[in-house]
Amino acid sequence: MSKYIVVTGGVVSSIGKGITSASIGRILRSYGVNVTAIKIDPYLNWDSGTLNPYQHGEVFVTDDGMETDLDLGHYERFLDVTLSGKANITTGKVYSSVIEKERKGEYLGSCVQIIPHITDEIKLMIKNVADKSKAEVVLVEVGGTVGDIESQPFIEALRQLRHEVEPDDCMFVHVTYVPYLKAAKEFKTKPTQHSTKELRGLGITPDMIVCRSELLLDKKLKEKIAHFCDVPYEAVINTPDAHSIYEVPLTMYSENVGDYILKRLNISTSKKADLYEWSQIVEDLKIDTPKINIAVVGKYIELEDAYISIREALKHAGAANKVNVDIDWIKADENFNKTMLDKYDGLLIPGGFGERGITGKIETVKYAIKNNKPIFGICLGLHAMAIAVAQLNGEPEANSTEFDVNSPCPVIDMMEEQKKIKNMGGTMRLGAYPCKVKEGTIAYEAYKETEISERHRHRYEVNNEYRDLLKNSGVVISGSSPDDFLVEMIELKDHPWFLGCQFHPEFKSRPNKAHPIFKSFIKAAKEFKLDN
Ligand code: GLN
Repeated sequence: MSKYIVVTGGVVSSIGKGITSASIGRILRSYGVNVTAIKIDPYLNWDSGTLNPYQHGEVFVTDDGMETDLDLGHYERFLDVTLSGKANITTGKVYSSVIEKERKGEYLGSCVQIIPHITDEIKLMIKNVADKSKAEVVLVEVGGTVGDIESQPFIEALRQLRHEVEPDDCMFVHVTYVPYLKAAKEFKTKPTQHSTKELRGLGITPDMIVCRSELLLDKKLKEKIAHFCDVPYEAVINTPDAHSIYEVPLTMYSENVGDYILKRLNISTSKKADLYEWSQIVEDLKIDTPKINIAVVGKYIELEDAYISIREALKHAGAANKVNVDIDWIKADENFNKTMLDKYDGLLIPGGFGERGITGKIETVKYAIKNNKPIFGICLGLHAMAIAVAQLNGEPEANSTEFDVNSPCPVIDMMEEQKKIKNMGGTMRLGAYPCKVKEGTIAYEAYKETEISERHRHRYEVNNEYRDLLKNSGVVISGSSPDDFLVEMIELKDHPWFLGCQFHPEFKSRPNKAHPIFKSFIKAAKEFKLDN
């Protein structure tokens, strides 16, 4: 039987509930407690796959091929676990499942209602994840803010859950924001009081309040919050804005979050918390020099969260190489021009969809080839690489059928099994697939393994009819599907570091285990800087 820590949020959104939940998980892991996490997204979409990255940030892909909320990425990185897509519960999934059961006649003639049918389904989905994971503690983060209409069935289900388990098997953590009013020169605790009241109105008394703030809160303020929100003083935790998200577990640990939770949930551990490795990583992430300048040439650059796993993977690789990775986000639109790339030591073209910006990306590849500058292409980035190489080698019209269905030279084409698919959601090549790595390549140097597994999310791939053209243009296929049918990684002979991968390695990078390709890319960028 697992114990549950439910994390809700109040006052405003985007205060880092995901990082708070992940940090609690990290702290418990440091005591040797087996933890897993669930993210509840109260929207009606079945999954995140069709959501616009401009609004919702990156779509995180799990090994089992689910397109999920980016918070699952935080959990995987902080907890160092591999999650199932079932760890992302949406209103869409809950309702679909209930309606399916109703159609099968499983409710035996009863009128199907939010209470108990929807709430029971929510609890069932949570318990299924808990049972499958065999985790001692399951973190359940409820997206949105308390009081939203959408989240009410979830809050109600979790209120019920509290009474279905032993009192020391479930606790509630409420994350709020304490604003600082410059004009009044003081922090304001009223929004925290109100959102706690709102939560209480829904039948839930928080056991712990995590106050996000711009600056450190003093003892008096914490006492006031404890008093008005009816929690013990030790259960008022302050996490002021941090230099890096990876500092948050250390801040929370220093506020004795670990001891408090272990006591509240009656968990005895055989070891003391060991956050040594984590604090080493935080130190390495603080390294200021040498600075390695990386340009990410993409499309969704206004919202950094759209490429959150790439940003984190680059930072992990920086720490692993003991350098500071300074990232600039460059929009590959009509204002793009190659001279913008001059000051960078390495270029990265991330994944993406649609034609906008593709010319700038192809130009970026050509620039990297001409200037022998390290370049890393991910998914659509690999497509841009293959197109650029073909264009430079006698095929000026080379393209992807994603951008021109009638292209006379479709070096990138839709996968055969994709051609008959009409639905948008969950229909791409998704999740973990094995890949064979060719020895004597940059990829092999990085992985030091011939068999790897990486996560995919795409419909298009290198067209096998153009393999020879690419090979004759200096391309080395350094990764392929085990049956050799699909091109999974390409490199370019006589270039110091040119690597494109059809998969998304960024999803598997961890702060303590920088992804091999990212690590190798940053190493190459560091060498490029030294040589130039
Ligand atoms: N749009 C391309 C495809 O569907 C690339 C996808 C991606 O970069 N994730 O194949």
